[in-house]
This record gives sequence, structure tokens and C-alpha cells, in this order.
Amino acid sequence: MFKKIPVIALEEHYWDHELAAQLQGAEGTRSADMLQRLYDLGDLRLREMDEAGIDIQVLSHGAPSAQKLDASIAVDLTRRVNDRLAEAVARHPTRFAGFAALPTANPEAAARELERCVKDLGFVGAMICGLTNGMFHDDERFWCIYERAEALGVPIYFHPSFPDADVSRVYYDKYAKDFPQVVRAAWGYTVETATQAVRLILSRVFEKHPGLNVILGHMGETLPYQLWRIDQALKRPGHDEMNFREHFTRNFYITTSGHFSTTALVCAMMEMSMDHIMFSVDYPFVAHKPAMDWLNTLQLSQTDMRKFLSGNARRVLNL
Ligand code: MN
Repeated sequence: MFKKIPVIALEEHYWDHELAAQLQGAEGTRSADMLQRLYDLGDLRLREMDEAGIDIQVLSHGAPSAQKLDASIAVDLTRRVNDRLAEAVARHPTRFAGFAALPTANPEAAARELERCVKDLGFVGAMICGLTNGMFHDDERFWCIYERAEALGVPIYFHPSFPDADVSRVYYDKYAKDFPQVVRAAWGYTVETATQAVRLILSRVFEKHPGLNVILGHMGETLPYQLWRIDQALKRPGHDEMNFREHFTRNFYITTSGHFSTTALVCAMMEMSMDHIMFSVDYPFVAHKPAMDWLNTLQLSQTDMRKFLSGNARRVLNL
């Protein structure tokens, strides 16, 4: 059904050798097969894209990314990381696009790097992974990044990383040994990233920057399912006026990275409309096959399938 529609996948990761070396213990948590795929931006990746039927990957540095870097090294290092990604995209310009890594430990420099990446390197937005050294990104010190993103017309993709150490200890330590994924994809990532999104809306950054577009992966990190309750609760007496639903359905886009549930997709379609949902895999942390097998079961109209597989991405990323 979707054979003739181009497929763009938005949350597809790689690792840069120099940046990964700075992220303590990052490699030790990954298998040799995974590391091979993370470091490949050539034949292996392209072959697996061809086998799956994916036309374009929007590449981003996988977590943990530049948000874990100290301000003293972040600016120069992310510049080199982005330059190398731009070279990889330039080798296969019809197959790859790039999301910038940002040195958010220095927000003003991050805003400048975003502009350089979009204007000089042709990147289509930026990805922020987890918190910046323990800080959520609704803080006003980061708003210069959003001002620049709005002016450039590019989205910011908020991606999970390992939860804050204190949160991990209180919430997950009891079960983390037997169920390591409870800290990660099974729950910890979701809680932190959804919290990041809720805080962004509460900060009223979208009132100051109504043109700012934000992308969340993993079917919206549970927020489409929670939208009615959050919106209703924030309208109860004792709250400042806040239209959570309006901001979430206007400024947010979601992708299906690592979350291939038709039931969840139907919920997201009803709450957000198909205009705000984009296909993604989360390669190589998630394999292509379950994603593409799922696509083959989806009974969507041709119009919705076009939006979902590439139409929305072309519009939101100016591809
Ligand atoms: Mn991911």
C-alpha cells in the first residue's frame, strides 16, 4: 500500500568517535554489533535502509549526546561533530539529512551553532538529549535557542537520555538490577522526556515563540494519551490561565520511534491529527524489521499514509 510513497525516518542515530569517547562508559553498555552500526554512516547503513525500504534517514547523535558535556569543551567539540556529520550527509545527500548536536551547557553558543548548522551546513533542526547537566530546558537561559529555532524555521527534537541520578536512585534503584530497561526505554526515559515537554509548555515559551516547533519521539512520550487529563487539571481553580491542549496540538509533533502500536497511533491521531505524526524507527537501537512489519499492517488512507511517511517531515523539516 505504501510502496510508492517515499519513507523518511527522523530519529535515526549514529555516534561520533570523539564525542562518544567523552561520554564515560557509553561504549561499554553496547554490543559490538550495535557499535558497528552506530559508527557506520556508509555502506552498512545504506544497505539496511534499502532492505527495509527507507529512503531518507535524518541523522542525529545518539544519547548520551552533547548535553552531558562540560561547557569548557562543549562548544568546540560539537562544532567538529556537526562538521563531520555534514560531511557524511554530503556524501549521500539524497539519503541523509542532519540534526545538529548543540552545546547547551553554553546556551548562547548553542543558539549560534544552531544557526551555523542550518545556514552553512544545511541541517534541518537540532536534537537535545535529556537534561543539560541536570537542568530542564524550560529554563529561560535556554530560550535564546528557541528564539533562533523559531527565526530559522527549524524544529528542536527532545530526545531522552539517562534519567537524573537522584531520580534514578529514588524511583528505580530497587528494580534496576533485575530490569535494567526500567531506567531506560521501559519507563525512565519516558518520564523524564514527558516532564521536559510539560515544563516547556508551563514555562509559556510558546506564547513568546508561537512559531517554535518541538518534536517528541516514542509516540509522544505518553502525552497524547494523557492530554485530556493534563489539560483539564490545569484548568481547575487556582491555576493561571493555561491552554495546554492548544500548545501541545499546535507546537508539538511526534514520531513513532521505537513504538509500533496501532492502538497508540489511533489515540495520537485522534488527539493531534495525522498532520502532527511522523514515522521513525530509532535505528540502530531499534531494528528496521519490526517497524516495517508494523507499517504493512496499518490500514491508513493514502492521504494519511503520505503525511505519515514523508509529507509531514518534508513540511516540518523543510526537506
Ligand atoms: Mn532514539
